[in-house]
Amino acid sequence: MEMQRPRGTADLLPGQVEDWQRLEAIVTKILSAANYQEIRTPIFEHTELFERGVGDTTDIVSKEMYTFEDRGQRSVTLRPEGTAGVVRAYVENKLYGTGTVSKLFYYGPMFRYEKPQKGRFRQFHQYGAEVLGSEKPAIDAEVISLSLRILVGIGLKNLTVELNSVGCSVCRPVHRALMVERLTPHKDELCQDCQNRLEKNPLRLFDCKNDRCQAILRDADVPYIVDVLCDDCRTHFDAVQRYLKVMDVPFRLEKGLVRGLDYYTRTAWEITSPGFTTIAAGGRYNGLVEEIGGPPTPGIGFAGGIERALWVLGEQGGTLRSSERLDAFVAVADEGGEGTAMVVLETLRGRGIRADRDYQGRSLKSQFKLADRLQARYVVVIGESELQSGKATVKNLDDGEQREIPFPQLADEIEQGIR
Ligand code: ATP
Ligand code: MG
Repeated sequence: MEMQRPRGTADLLPGQVEDWQRLEAIVTKILSAANYQEIRTPIFEHTELFERGVGDTTDIVSKEMYTFEDRGQRSVTLRPEGTAGVVRAYVENKLYGTGTVSKLFYYGPMFRYEKPQKGRFRQFHQYGAEVLGSEKPAIDAEVISLSLRILVGIGLKNLTVELNSVGCSVCRPVHRALMVERLTPHKDELCQDCQNRLEKNPLRLFDCKNDRCQAILRDADVPYIVDVLCDDCRTHFDAVQRYLKVMDVPFRLEKGLVRGLDYYTRTAWEITSPGFTTIAAGGRYNGLVEEIGGPPTPGIGFAGGIERALWVLGEQGGTLRSSERLDAFVAVADEGGEGTAMVVLETLRGRGIRADRDYQGRSLKSQFKLADRLQARYVVVIGESELQSGKATVKNLDDGEQREIPFPQLADEIEQGIR
Protein backbone atom coordinates (compact mmCIF):
# COMPACT_ATOMS: atom_id res chain seq x y z
CA MET A 1 0.00 0.00 0.00
CA GLU A 2 1.27 3.43 -0.92
CA MET A 3 1.25 5.85 1.96
CA GLN A 4 -0.31 9.23 1.42
CA ARG A 5 -0.62 12.25 3.65
CA PRO A 6 -4.03 12.76 5.28
CA ARG A 7 -6.59 14.75 3.29
CA GLY A 8 -6.37 18.49 3.89
CA THR A 9 -2.70 18.45 4.89
CA ALA A 10 0.34 19.51 2.88
CA ASP A 11 4.06 18.86 2.65
CA LEU A 12 6.19 21.96 2.49
CA LEU A 13 9.15 21.18 0.31
CA PRO A 14 12.49 22.97 0.09
CA GLY A 15 11.82 26.07 -1.97
CA GLN A 16 8.43 26.54 -0.30
CA VAL A 17 9.72 26.48 3.24
CA GLU A 18 11.83 29.56 2.44
CA ASP A 19 8.65 31.52 1.65
CA TRP A 20 7.25 30.55 5.02
CA GLN A 21 10.43 31.58 6.77
CA ARG A 22 10.35 34.94 5.02
CA LEU A 23 6.71 35.45 5.88
CA GLU A 24 7.37 34.64 9.52
CA ALA A 25 10.35 37.02 9.52
CA ILE A 26 8.13 39.81 8.18
CA VAL A 27 5.48 39.15 10.83
CA THR A 28 8.10 39.08 13.60
CA LYS A 29 9.75 42.26 12.41
CA ILE A 30 6.52 44.23 12.15
CA LEU A 31 5.15 43.06 15.49
CA SER A 32 8.46 43.38 17.34
CA ALA A 33 8.73 46.95 16.16
CA ALA A 34 5.45 47.59 18.00
CA ASN A 35 6.80 45.83 21.13
CA TYR A 36 4.90 42.52 20.81
CA GLN A 37 6.54 39.34 22.13
CA GLU A 38 6.19 35.81 20.85
CA ILE A 39 4.37 33.18 22.92
CA ARG A 40 4.20 29.42 22.23
CA THR A 41 1.41 27.33 23.66
CA PRO A 42 0.50 23.63 23.29
CA ILE A 43 -0.91 22.29 20.05
CA PHE A 44 -3.54 20.34 21.99
CA GLU A 45 -5.58 21.56 24.92
CA HIS A 46 -8.45 20.29 27.04
CA THR A 47 -11.55 20.24 24.86
CA GLU A 48 -13.41 22.33 27.39
CA LEU A 49 -11.10 25.29 26.73
CA PHE A 50 -12.39 25.63 23.18
CA GLU A 51 -15.98 24.88 24.11
CA ARG A 52 -15.88 27.82 26.51
CA GLY A 53 -13.34 30.01 24.78
CA VAL A 54 -14.56 29.71 21.19
CA GLY A 55 -18.18 29.03 21.99
CA ASP A 56 -20.31 26.01 21.26
CA THR A 57 -22.59 27.79 18.80
CA THR A 58 -19.68 28.33 16.40
CA ASP A 59 -18.95 26.24 13.33
CA ILE A 60 -15.56 25.49 14.83
CA VAL A 61 -16.85 23.89 18.02
CA SER A 62 -20.03 22.41 16.61
CA LYS A 63 -18.51 20.66 13.61
CA GLU A 64 -14.83 21.27 12.94
CA MET A 65 -12.80 20.15 15.95
CA TYR A 66 -10.32 17.30 16.04
CA THR A 67 -11.33 15.93 19.40
CA PHE A 68 -10.26 12.61 20.85
CA GLU A 69 -9.86 10.82 24.12
CA ASP A 70 -6.28 10.24 25.18
CA ARG A 71 -5.11 7.08 26.91
CA GLY A 72 -6.06 8.56 30.26
CA GLN A 73 -9.67 9.06 29.09
CA ARG A 74 -9.35 12.85 28.96
CA SER A 75 -10.98 14.67 26.10
CA VAL A 76 -8.36 16.70 24.26
CA THR A 77 -8.59 18.76 21.07
CA LEU A 78 -6.03 19.81 18.48
CA ARG A 79 -6.24 23.59 18.64
CA PRO A 80 -8.54 25.02 15.95
CA GLU A 81 -7.35 28.60 16.61
CA GLY A 82 -4.80 30.42 18.71
CA THR A 83 -6.63 32.87 20.94
CA ALA A 84 -8.07 30.44 23.49
CA GLY A 85 -4.66 28.91 24.23
CA VAL A 86 -2.95 32.27 24.52
CA VAL A 87 -5.62 33.53 26.90
CA ARG A 88 -5.43 30.31 28.93
CA ALA A 89 -1.65 30.75 29.20
CA TYR A 90 -2.11 34.40 30.18
CA VAL A 91 -4.45 33.40 33.00
CA GLU A 92 -2.56 30.28 34.12
CA ASN A 93 0.79 32.08 34.25
CA LYS A 94 -0.76 35.17 35.83
CA LEU A 95 0.66 37.49 33.18
CA TYR A 96 -1.99 39.99 34.31
CA GLY A 97 0.08 40.36 37.48
CA THR A 98 2.68 42.42 35.62
CA GLY A 99 0.41 45.44 35.83
CA THR A 100 1.05 46.32 32.20
CA VAL A 101 -0.62 45.49 28.93
CA SER A 102 0.48 42.12 27.48
CA LYS A 103 1.24 42.31 23.77
CA LEU A 104 1.73 38.81 22.41
CA PHE A 105 2.05 37.10 19.05
CA TYR A 106 2.23 33.52 17.80
CA TYR A 107 2.51 31.28 14.76
CA GLY A 108 1.64 27.70 14.30
CA PRO A 109 -0.49 24.89 12.98
CA MET A 110 -4.25 24.89 13.59
CA PHE A 111 -6.65 22.03 12.89
CA ARG A 112 -10.19 22.09 11.60
CA TYR A 113 -12.20 19.30 10.08
CA GLU A 114 -13.41 21.14 6.96
CA LYS A 115 -13.96 20.32 3.34
CA PRO A 116 -10.53 20.90 1.79
CA GLN A 117 -10.44 23.34 -1.13
CA LYS A 118 -8.32 26.17 -2.44
CA GLY A 119 -6.91 28.04 0.55
CA ARG A 120 -8.74 25.76 3.00
CA PHE A 121 -7.00 22.89 4.75
CA ARG A 122 -7.48 20.62 7.73
CA GLN A 123 -4.06 21.41 9.08
CA PHE A 124 -3.39 25.04 8.29
CA HIS A 125 -1.23 27.72 9.83
CA GLN A 126 -1.91 31.07 11.36
CA TYR A 127 0.08 33.96 12.69
CA GLY A 128 -1.74 36.14 15.16
CA ALA A 129 -1.44 38.76 17.86
CA GLU A 130 -3.31 39.39 21.09
CA VAL A 131 -3.29 42.40 23.39
CA LEU A 132 -4.59 41.82 26.89
CA GLY A 133 -5.33 44.49 29.45
CA SER A 134 -6.48 47.55 27.53
CA GLU A 135 -9.85 48.79 26.51
CA LYS A 136 -8.54 51.96 24.90
CA PRO A 137 -9.68 52.56 21.32
CA ALA A 138 -6.06 53.46 20.50
CA ILE A 139 -5.09 49.82 20.95
CA ASP A 140 -7.88 48.75 18.57
CA ALA A 141 -6.45 51.13 16.00
CA GLU A 142 -2.92 49.85 16.61
CA VAL A 143 -3.90 46.21 16.22
CA ILE A 144 -5.95 46.86 13.08
CA SER A 145 -3.09 48.82 11.59
CA LEU A 146 -0.62 46.02 12.36
CA SER A 147 -2.89 43.37 10.87
CA LEU A 148 -2.96 45.36 7.63
CA ARG A 149 0.71 46.30 7.74
CA ILE A 150 1.70 42.63 7.84
CA LEU A 151 -0.23 41.81 4.66
CA VAL A 152 1.15 44.89 2.93
CA GLY A 153 4.62 43.84 4.14
CA ILE A 154 4.15 40.41 2.60
CA GLY A 155 3.41 42.17 -0.67
CA LEU A 156 -0.37 41.71 -1.03
CA LYS A 157 -2.33 44.23 -3.08
CA ASN A 158 -5.91 45.55 -3.24
CA LEU A 159 -6.50 45.01 0.45
CA THR A 160 -9.60 46.26 2.21
CA VAL A 161 -10.16 46.50 5.95
CA GLU A 162 -13.85 45.86 6.60
CA LEU A 163 -14.78 47.25 9.98
CA ASN A 164 -17.72 46.95 12.31
CA SER A 165 -18.70 47.06 15.96
CA VAL A 166 -20.76 44.24 17.41
CA GLY A 167 -21.62 45.91 20.71
CA CYS A 168 -21.26 44.65 24.25
CA SER A 169 -23.15 42.98 27.07
CA VAL A 170 -25.25 46.14 27.42
CA CYS A 171 -26.45 46.70 23.85
CA ARG A 172 -26.22 43.20 22.39
CA PRO A 173 -29.04 41.70 24.50
CA VAL A 174 -31.35 44.56 23.47
CA HIS A 175 -30.54 43.99 19.82
CA ARG A 176 -30.82 40.26 20.28
CA ALA A 177 -34.31 40.54 21.73
CA LEU A 178 -35.32 42.71 18.80
CA MET A 179 -34.00 40.15 16.33
CA VAL A 180 -35.79 37.30 18.02
CA GLU A 181 -39.03 39.30 18.11
CA ARG A 182 -38.92 40.25 14.44
CA LEU A 183 -37.61 36.97 13.04
CA THR A 184 -39.48 34.37 15.05
CA PRO A 185 -42.59 34.77 12.84
CA HIS A 186 -40.36 33.86 9.85
CA LYS A 187 -38.42 31.14 11.59
CA ASP A 188 -39.64 28.34 9.32
CA GLU A 189 -38.41 30.20 6.23
CA LEU A 190 -34.83 30.36 7.52
CA CYS A 191 -32.18 27.77 6.72
CA GLN A 192 -31.57 25.13 9.38
CA ASP A 193 -28.34 26.79 10.53
CA CYS A 194 -30.12 30.12 10.97
CA GLN A 195 -32.96 28.52 12.88
CA ASN A 196 -30.35 27.33 15.36
CA ARG A 197 -28.60 30.70 15.31
CA LEU A 198 -31.87 32.45 16.07
CA GLU A 199 -32.00 30.50 19.31
CA LYS A 200 -28.36 30.60 20.30
CA ASN A 201 -26.70 33.62 18.72
CA PRO A 202 -29.05 35.57 16.43
CA LEU A 203 -26.38 38.10 15.44
CA ARG A 204 -24.72 35.38 13.42
CA LEU A 205 -27.67 35.37 11.01
CA PHE A 206 -25.89 38.29 9.37
CA ASP A 207 -23.06 35.86 8.59
CA CYS A 208 -25.28 33.46 6.64
CA LYS A 209 -24.25 33.00 3.01
CA ASN A 210 -27.81 32.06 2.06
CA ASP A 211 -29.51 34.82 -0.02
CA ARG A 212 -32.92 33.84 1.22
CA CYS A 213 -31.95 34.31 4.84
CA GLN A 214 -30.44 37.69 4.00
CA ALA A 215 -33.67 38.71 2.25
CA ILE A 216 -35.70 37.68 5.29
CA LEU A 217 -33.40 39.75 7.49
CA ARG A 218 -33.97 42.78 5.28
CA ASP A 219 -37.73 42.32 5.03
CA ALA A 220 -38.07 41.92 8.78
CA ASP A 221 -36.40 45.32 9.08
CA VAL A 222 -33.83 44.13 11.58
CA PRO A 223 -31.36 46.92 12.38
CA TYR A 224 -27.65 46.37 12.18
CA ILE A 225 -26.10 46.12 15.61
CA VAL A 226 -23.76 49.01 14.81
CA ASP A 227 -26.81 51.28 14.36
CA VAL A 228 -28.12 50.54 17.85
CA LEU A 229 -24.96 50.60 19.98
CA CYS A 230 -25.08 51.83 23.56
CA ASP A 231 -23.40 55.18 24.24
CA ASP A 232 -20.14 53.67 25.49
CA CYS A 233 -19.79 51.39 22.48
CA ARG A 234 -20.65 54.28 20.15
CA THR A 235 -18.03 56.56 21.71
CA HIS A 236 -15.46 53.78 21.57
CA PHE A 237 -16.18 52.93 17.95
CA ASP A 238 -16.08 56.59 16.88
CA ALA A 239 -12.67 56.95 18.51
CA VAL A 240 -11.34 53.81 16.78
CA GLN A 241 -12.34 55.26 13.43
CA ARG A 242 -10.89 58.65 14.27
CA TYR A 243 -7.51 57.12 15.11
CA LEU A 244 -7.51 54.97 11.99
CA LYS A 245 -8.08 58.09 9.94
CA VAL A 246 -5.23 60.04 11.49
CA MET A 247 -3.00 56.97 11.12
CA ASP A 248 -3.93 56.82 7.44
CA VAL A 249 -5.23 53.27 7.73
CA PRO A 250 -7.87 52.83 5.04
CA PHE A 251 -11.05 51.02 6.09
CA ARG A 252 -14.64 50.54 5.02
CA LEU A 253 -17.61 50.19 7.35
CA GLU A 254 -19.32 46.86 6.84
CA LYS A 255 -22.43 46.85 8.97
CA GLY A 256 -23.25 43.21 8.33
CA LEU A 257 -19.85 41.96 9.45
CA VAL A 258 -20.01 39.65 12.45
CA ARG A 259 -17.23 37.29 13.35
CA GLY A 260 -17.68 33.56 13.72
CA LEU A 261 -16.59 33.39 17.31
CA ASP A 262 -19.06 33.98 20.12
CA TYR A 263 -16.78 35.96 22.37
CA TYR A 264 -16.29 39.07 20.27
CA THR A 265 -17.36 42.46 21.64
CA ARG A 266 -17.17 45.87 20.02
CA THR A 267 -14.56 46.16 17.26
CA ALA A 268 -14.53 43.42 14.62
CA TRP A 269 -12.73 43.47 11.28
CA GLU A 270 -11.64 41.38 8.35
CA ILE A 271 -9.07 42.00 5.68
CA THR A 272 -10.04 40.90 2.21
CA SER A 273 -8.92 41.26 -1.36
CA PRO A 274 -11.48 41.11 -4.18
CA GLY A 275 -11.89 37.60 -5.54
CA PHE A 276 -10.49 35.85 -2.48
CA THR A 277 -11.81 34.66 0.85
CA THR A 278 -10.83 36.53 4.01
CA ILE A 279 -7.08 36.61 4.61
CA ALA A 280 -6.95 37.91 8.17
CA ALA A 281 -9.56 38.70 10.77
CA GLY A 282 -9.78 40.01 14.27
CA GLY A 283 -11.85 41.46 17.02
CA ARG A 284 -12.16 42.62 20.57
CA TYR A 285 -13.14 40.07 23.20
CA ASN A 286 -13.74 41.78 26.51
CA GLY A 287 -15.41 38.80 28.18
CA LEU A 288 -13.00 36.01 27.25
CA VAL A 289 -10.37 36.23 29.99
CA GLU A 290 -13.07 35.99 32.65
CA GLU A 291 -14.76 33.14 30.80
CA ILE A 292 -11.47 31.22 31.06
CA GLY A 293 -11.12 31.90 34.77
CA GLY A 294 -9.05 35.08 34.92
CA PRO A 295 -9.86 38.51 36.35
CA PRO A 296 -12.02 40.77 34.16
CA THR A 297 -9.56 41.84 31.46
CA PRO A 298 -10.28 43.34 28.06
CA GLY A 299 -8.58 41.81 25.04
CA ILE A 300 -8.25 42.24 21.31
CA GLY A 301 -6.47 40.29 18.62
CA PHE A 302 -6.33 39.01 15.08
CA ALA A 303 -5.19 35.99 13.12
CA GLY A 304 -4.14 35.59 9.52
CA GLY A 305 -3.93 32.44 7.46
CA ILE A 306 -0.45 31.73 6.15
CA GLU A 307 -1.55 29.42 3.30
CA ARG A 308 -4.25 31.96 2.42
CA ALA A 309 -1.80 34.88 2.33
CA LEU A 310 0.73 32.99 0.20
CA TRP A 311 -2.00 31.80 -2.15
CA VAL A 312 -3.32 35.32 -2.72
CA LEU A 313 0.24 36.59 -3.14
CA GLY A 314 0.89 33.97 -5.82
CA GLU A 315 -2.39 34.72 -7.62
CA GLN A 316 -1.53 38.41 -7.65
CA GLY A 317 1.80 37.63 -9.27
CA GLY A 318 3.77 38.59 -6.19
CA THR A 319 6.56 36.68 -4.55
CA LEU A 320 8.57 36.76 -1.37
CA ARG A 321 11.62 35.65 -3.29
CA SER A 322 12.85 39.14 -4.08
CA SER A 323 14.57 39.13 -0.73
CA GLU A 324 16.86 36.51 -2.27
CA ARG A 325 18.40 39.31 -4.31
CA LEU A 326 22.03 39.97 -3.86
CA ASP A 327 22.74 43.40 -2.37
CA ALA A 328 26.16 43.80 -3.90
CA PHE A 329 28.26 41.97 -6.46
CA VAL A 330 31.96 42.72 -6.24
CA ALA A 331 33.48 42.64 -9.72
CA VAL A 332 37.25 42.26 -9.97
CA ALA A 333 38.52 44.26 -12.95
CA ASP A 334 42.06 42.92 -12.93
CA GLU A 335 44.60 40.99 -10.87
CA GLY A 336 45.47 44.13 -8.87
CA GLY A 337 41.94 44.34 -7.45
CA GLU A 338 41.86 40.80 -5.99
CA GLY A 339 43.06 41.50 -2.45
CA THR A 340 40.95 44.62 -1.95
CA ALA A 341 37.89 42.82 -3.34
CA MET A 342 38.20 40.23 -0.57
CA VAL A 343 38.51 42.96 2.08
CA VAL A 344 35.45 44.74 0.71
CA LEU A 345 33.41 41.49 0.70
CA GLU A 346 34.39 40.82 4.31
CA THR A 347 33.35 44.32 5.33
CA LEU A 348 30.01 44.19 3.54
CA ARG A 349 29.13 40.72 4.83
CA GLY A 350 30.16 41.75 8.32
CA ARG A 351 27.37 44.30 8.19
CA GLY A 352 24.83 41.78 7.02
CA ILE A 353 24.88 43.05 3.45
CA ARG A 354 24.37 40.08 1.15
CA ALA A 355 27.43 40.13 -1.11
CA ASP A 356 29.20 37.79 -3.48
CA ARG A 357 31.72 37.70 -6.35
CA ASP A 358 32.92 35.50 -9.19
CA TYR A 359 35.34 32.70 -8.45
CA GLN A 360 35.68 31.29 -11.95
CA GLY A 361 37.92 33.89 -13.58
CA ARG A 362 35.19 35.50 -15.70
CA SER A 363 35.87 38.61 -17.80
CA LEU A 364 34.53 41.89 -16.43
CA LYS A 365 31.72 41.76 -18.96
CA SER A 366 30.55 38.32 -17.91
CA GLN A 367 30.88 39.28 -14.25
CA PHE A 368 28.26 41.95 -14.98
CA LYS A 369 26.09 39.30 -16.60
CA LEU A 370 26.42 37.11 -13.54
CA ALA A 371 25.52 40.08 -11.31
CA ASP A 372 22.39 40.51 -13.41
CA ARG A 373 21.48 36.87 -13.05
CA LEU A 374 21.87 37.12 -9.26
CA GLN A 375 19.65 40.22 -9.33
CA ALA A 376 22.33 42.26 -7.60
CA ARG A 377 21.34 45.75 -6.59
CA TYR A 378 24.88 47.13 -6.91
CA VAL A 379 28.02 46.10 -8.75
CA VAL A 380 31.19 47.30 -7.06
CA VAL A 381 34.10 47.33 -9.52
CA ILE A 382 37.60 47.07 -8.07
CA GLY A 383 40.84 47.11 -10.10
CA GLU A 384 44.16 48.93 -10.43
CA SER A 385 42.61 52.26 -11.37
CA GLU A 386 40.19 52.16 -8.42
CA LEU A 387 43.04 51.43 -6.05
CA GLN A 388 44.96 54.38 -7.42
CA SER A 389 42.08 56.83 -7.12
CA GLY A 390 41.03 55.39 -3.71
CA LYS A 391 37.46 55.10 -5.03
CA ALA A 392 35.40 52.10 -6.08
CA THR A 393 33.23 52.33 -9.17
CA VAL A 394 29.68 51.49 -8.06
CA LYS A 395 26.88 50.82 -10.51
CA ASN A 396 23.25 50.68 -9.41
CA LEU A 397 21.73 47.97 -11.62
CA ASP A 398 18.19 49.14 -10.91
CA ASP A 399 18.58 52.59 -12.45
CA GLY A 400 21.92 52.24 -14.26
CA GLU A 401 23.49 55.12 -12.38
CA GLN A 402 27.26 54.86 -11.86
CA ARG A 403 29.26 56.61 -9.14
CA GLU A 404 32.74 56.72 -7.65
CA ILE A 405 32.68 56.11 -3.91
CA PRO A 406 35.77 56.43 -1.66
CA PHE A 407 36.55 53.05 -0.07
CA PRO A 408 35.97 54.17 3.55
CA GLN A 409 32.39 55.25 2.67
CA LEU A 410 31.54 52.26 0.50
CA ALA A 411 29.77 50.06 3.08
CA ASP A 412 27.78 52.99 4.49
CA GLU A 413 26.55 54.05 1.08
CA ILE A 414 25.49 50.55 0.07
CA GLU A 415 23.80 49.97 3.38
CA GLN A 416 21.77 53.14 2.89
CA GLY A 417 20.95 52.24 -0.68
CA ILE A 418 19.51 48.82 0.12
CA ARG A 419 17.20 49.97 2.90
P1 ATP B 1 -13.79 31.19 6.90
O1 ATP B 1 -15.02 32.04 6.92
O2 ATP B 1 -12.94 31.35 5.68
O3 ATP B 1 -14.01 29.77 7.30
P2 ATP B 1 -13.05 31.73 9.60
O4 ATP B 1 -13.93 32.82 10.08
O5 ATP B 1 -13.34 30.34 10.00
O6 ATP B 1 -12.86 31.84 8.03
P3 ATP B 1 -10.94 32.58 11.36
O7 ATP B 1 -11.28 31.61 12.40
O8 ATP B 1 -11.25 34.00 11.55
O9 ATP B 1 -11.54 32.09 9.97
O10 ATP B 1 -9.38 32.44 11.00
C1 ATP B 1 -8.59 33.53 10.54
C2 ATP B 1 -7.93 33.21 9.25
O11 ATP B 1 -7.37 31.91 9.24
C3 ATP B 1 -8.87 33.20 8.05
O12 ATP B 1 -9.11 34.48 7.60
C4 ATP B 1 -8.07 32.37 7.06
O13 ATP B 1 -7.06 33.15 6.46
C5 ATP B 1 -7.41 31.35 7.93
N1 ATP B 1 -8.15 30.08 7.93
C6 ATP B 1 -9.25 29.75 8.65
N2 ATP B 1 -9.62 28.49 8.39
C7 ATP B 1 -8.72 28.00 7.49
C8 ATP B 1 -8.54 26.74 6.85
N3 ATP B 1 -9.35 25.71 7.08
N4 ATP B 1 -7.51 26.60 5.98
C9 ATP B 1 -6.66 27.63 5.73
N5 ATP B 1 -6.78 28.83 6.33
C10 ATP B 1 -7.79 29.02 7.21
MG1 MG C 1 -14.24 28.71 9.02
